[in-house]
Amino acid sequence: MAIDPEFEQSYEQIGENDDVAIWSPDGEELTEEKQGIHGTHVAVDFDICLADGACLEDCPVDVFEWVDTPGHPESEIKAHPTHEEQCIDCMLCVDVCPVDAIDVDPSRAGRI
Ligand code: SF4
Repeated sequence: MAIDPEFEQSYEQIGENDDVAIWSPDGEELTEEKQGIHGTHVAVDFDICLADGACLEDCPVDVFEWVDTPGHPESEIKAHPTHEEQCIDCMLCVDVCPVDAIDVDPSRAGRI
């Protein structure tokens, strides 16, 4: 399963972490096991991310930082798009993610 590029339709923004939006399916409460999507311009589905790390290695402008997600069934760290405002839309992270957990759409950033 890949990240839903239309997540704005089916998810609700329920908060922020370091000025990065947190989106939950249908606005339901998030848990250790259900982490939702983090980011808007650069969106990472934490429930798919398995901490491969290719996005951190390849991003030319260091958008991502590791965050701890203890208890999550896929991985206990995740690639958080902490500096998504620096993104230059090269799409490298989208291409290298082995589980298609990342979607980048610059037009989305201005819609919230
Ligand atoms: S699209 Fe490029 S610049 Fe933007 S987060 Fe991904 S790798 Fe970094």
